[in-house]
Amino acid sequence: MEFKVITDNVDIVVVGAGPVGSVAAARLVQCGFSVIVCEAEATSTQNLRASTFHPPTLEMLDTLGVADQVIKEGLKAPVYHWRKRETGEVFSFDFGELADRTTHPYRIQCEQHHLSRMLAEKLAGEAKCDLRYNTRVVNVQQDADGVDVTLETPLEIQHVRAKYVIGADGANSIVRKYLGIGFEGFTYPEKFLCLSTEMDLADHIDGLAYVNYVSDPEEWLVLLRVPRLWRVLVPTTEGDDDEWLLSDAKKNEVFERLVGRSDVETAHRTIYKVHQRVAERFNQGRMFLVGDAAHLNNPLGGFGMNSGIHDAWNLAGKLDDVERHGASPSVFDRFDRQRRAITHQFVQRQTIDNMELMNGEGGKQKQMRDRMSRLNDDPVARREFLLYQSMIKSLDDAEAIL
Ligand SMILES: Cc1cc2nc3c(=O)[nH]c(=O)nc-3n(C[C@H](O)[C@H](O)[C@H](O)COP(=O)(O)OP(=O)(O)OC[C@H]3O[C@@H](n4cnc5c(N)ncnc54)[C@H](O)[C@@H]3O)c2cc1C
Repeated sequence: MEFKVITDNVDIVVVGAGPVGSVAAARLVQCGFSVIVCEAEATSTQNLRASTFHPPTLEMLDTLGVADQVIKEGLKAPVYHWRKRETGEVFSFDFGELADRTTHPYRIQCEQHHLSRMLAEKLAGEAKCDLRYNTRVVNVQQDADGVDVTLETPLEIQHVRAKYVIGADGANSIVRKYLGIGFEGFTYPEKFLCLSTEMDLADHIDGLAYVNYVSDPEEWLVLLRVPRLWRVLVPTTEGDDDEWLLSDAKKNEVFERLVGRSDVETAHRTIYKVHQRVAERFNQGRMFLVGDAAHLNNPLGGFGMNSGIHDAWNLAGKLDDVERHGASPSVFDRFDRQRRAITHQFVQRQTIDNMELMNGEGGKQKQMRDRMSRLNDDPVARREFLLYQSMIKSLDDAEAIL
């Protein structure tokens, strides 16, 4: 069969122009590689997903020259809250205490699609990058010297030969499936419902921070401020059908309980299935997995996209070491060891733990209260906690893995 050959010698094909694929591409171009980015959709997807950028991620975005723009378009949130819904107790944590460790001692609240858009605009001006929308990768086959990549566009089937392929193609990654890499873990039985509103929740709930984790055995909540909107994330009951979850009646129930009003207008209503899964390997030969293609977790803590960006950063460094500085390809195994260990030890463990703290499973409500009040009183323990929650420690820990 004859395919249109786009090129037979690009350095790297990045599959997916979500936040992780976009960062991978921008970093690789910065290192001097030629890159083709294939994105199945016509533009970067706009749905309500990640909204939190942690300090080390902002430092990476500084290097790419887009941190200032993310900060300008987002909201600075140095302080976040753990709250107990039943008692109204508030435990406040301030990333400002980490000002000696990071140039960005705060979270930035900004939706992920803004980052994809900013990086796409930047990549459009790069001679070494070819960002192709409406281009779905449908096959990848590797041999000792490179990878053959088959692309589907609205009009034709195309072919690219690359030295390496990075699968940043999200939860249903075709790259992961072609590699036959398992994706073990579990799916929570209940779905999560995300509602957004222009109504200012801070007018109804005293002293809200921009980021609030509200624990409750009956209905926990995450209340997140992003520019122009508040996002309200709640769990649902297993077996509830989607039509009911998206109905006005359900929306009214949530807001009635939250602010005593049922006439609240919503801008979005979205239901998510939530998974905790990790790929068995993040590399195989000349192909790699990063971001949601490699790991999925619940959004409690805001770690999914951030850790995916940290994967991409680590991998770009290893590709640079091998291709430009003569390192052995065995460093790709170190990428796998470092990022997979951090995914298990930090991202998976912390998000599963956060879910239990939020819903009070296994007596964790009391445990959470005791822990939070201890942290309030102990500056050394609080600093450790902040280094952990800001993801600074996860990068230090990854560096220590040989
Ligand atoms: C409600 C919610 C809130 C969240 N909040 C946070 C948060 O605050 N902080 C955080 O860090 N994380 C958060 N996350 C997680 C975060 O959204 C994901 O981890 C992040 O989107 C992963 O980025 P990615 O680029 O790996 O994958 P994706 O964003 O899924 O992007 C993958 C891209 O690949 C494209 N693609 C797929 N298949 C192909 C193919 N065959 N060919 C070409 N292109 C393809 C897709 O169209 C898509 O554009 C949240 C998630 C949810 C559901």
